Amino acid sequence: MAAVSRFDAIVVGGGCAGLSAAVRLAGGGAKVLVLEARSRLGGRATTFQDRVTGEPVDNGQHVLLGCYRETLAFLSAIGARDRVRAQPNLSVTMIDEAGTRTELTCPPWPAPWHLLAGACRWSALGWSDRLALLRMAAPIRAEAGAPSNETVQSWLAAHGQTERLLRFLWEPLVLAAMNQPMDAVSAAPFQRVLAEMFTGSSENSAVVLPARPLIEMYAEPAREYITRAGGDVRLSTPATVNVQGRRIVVTAGRETFESSATIVAVPWVKLDTTITGETAPLASTLAAAAATKPSPIVTVNLWYDAPIFDRPFVGLPGRTAQWLFDTAAIVPGMTHLSIVSSGATALLTETNDAIVAMADAELRASIHAARNARIVKSTVIRQPHATFSLAPGQPPRPATATALPRLWLAGDWIETGLPATIESAVRSGHAAADRALSSGTSS
Ligand SMILES: Cc1cc2nc3c(=O)[nH]c(=O)nc-3n(C[C@H](O)[C@H](O)[C@H](O)COP(=O)(O)OP(=O)(O)OC[C@H]3O[C@@H](n4cnc5c(N)ncnc54)[C@H](O)[C@@H]3O)c2cc1C
Repeated sequence: MAAVSRFDAIVVGGGCAGLSAAVRLAGGGAKVLVLEARSRLGGRATTFQDRVTGEPVDNGQHVLLGCYRETLAFLSAIGARDRVRAQPNLSVTMIDEAGTRTELTCPPWPAPWHLLAGACRWSALGWSDRLALLRMAAPIRAEAGAPSNETVQSWLAAHGQTERLLRFLWEPLVLAAMNQPMDAVSAAPFQRVLAEMFTGSSENSAVVLPARPLIEMYAEPAREYITRAGGDVRLSTPATVNVQGRRIVVTAGRETFESSATIVAVPWVKLDTTITGETAPLASTLAAAAATKPSPIVTVNLWYDAPIFDRPFVGLPGRTAQWLFDTAAIVPGMTHLSIVSSGATALLTETNDAIVAMADAELRASIHAARNARIVKSTVIRQPHATFSLAPGQPPRPATATALPRLWLAGDWIETGLPATIESAVRSGHAAADRALSSGTSS
């Protein structure tokens, strides 16, 4: 069957990377076809409906940061910038294992001095901790230079970070940003995260929370933008990208497509089943993707019969479930608590009952009001492939361009310098679309 060319560009994968690539292409005048295997958009950042109550439930609480500049630009492009809410400056409540509550609140000073000023008033720390934190100002502003073969833990130790700083600041931040424990993850990408958050404007480190279920926050507005520009977004349409010499033929069901640009925006674990045919020019990329290890996230959603705390989110340092979000205070229409356990390899094999009991016990120990509340409903979401591992020694991440002139890669795992985040996915999507547009893709 001859391949048809009704589209200027084809994007395989409808997560943050694929949708941001398609929106950038459509904005550049290209007629784009997006092919998504699942019945809903959003990939690893999406929304389900609870089977019993119909309440929207995200597949895991997602936190953005003020430094997510390309994500925020993507939201603006699709008219969805008001679907997230940003703190004016970084402000975090922590409740330690003894139930003591402290607040890190940073003033609007130039970074990283706003963090140091916030730390001076943060009662979780003493003066020796604050002095030790001062030692991180130079490595943060250096932006690079941390070794990729060293773990975050040994890098922070080399910079004299104290046990309390590790427990209250660095470990919760590493788990949230990198989804791996400090002793398992490479220092180089963490230094990049610190530079993104704690240089430039103090707003870069502010927490930005979705104000809509994820699918409404970006995926549906992106779909509408693409179709308004003459493109098409097809769900439940797994695609294969067949390499035939220098030709790239995309097959979806009974249809085949060929266009001047194909962007493959699937996760690393799906690359080898998505790209087929004469793949020898892509052999090293395919081999690296196949050898890249995952890191899991387990989310427990709890519905209590009474409110148990008064913040949109709190950190629970030292706990198995390190961050607690009250979706009722974040997204209209949601009513549950979302308890996130990052780097949760040990939880993957536990039963749902055991995971819920663990989360409930930890909340009761940390938060007084939880002792008088009763769980009326719970769900557990296991995501074994939530992110790719950034452990020292992992295979190199691929570049946007491939050895084939009409084929580009996108996805959070492309070499953006950032960990597996929405921002990494969107930067990779924009980069792939920009390459395709500059190679002459558009009607
Ligand atoms: C529980 C959880 C919590 C997270 N928390 C945060 C957070 O707080 N902040 C943050 O920034 N990031 C967070 N992340 C990471 C973030 O969700 C991901 O980095 C981002 O969504 C990855 O987007 P992507 O487009 O690269 O990949 P994906 O979202 O995986 O999208 C790829 C898409 O390709 C589709 N696909 C695969 N194969 C094919 C095929 N052959 N044909 C067609 N379609 C195909 C898939 O179905 C999928 O929809 C979290 C992730 C998880 C799982």
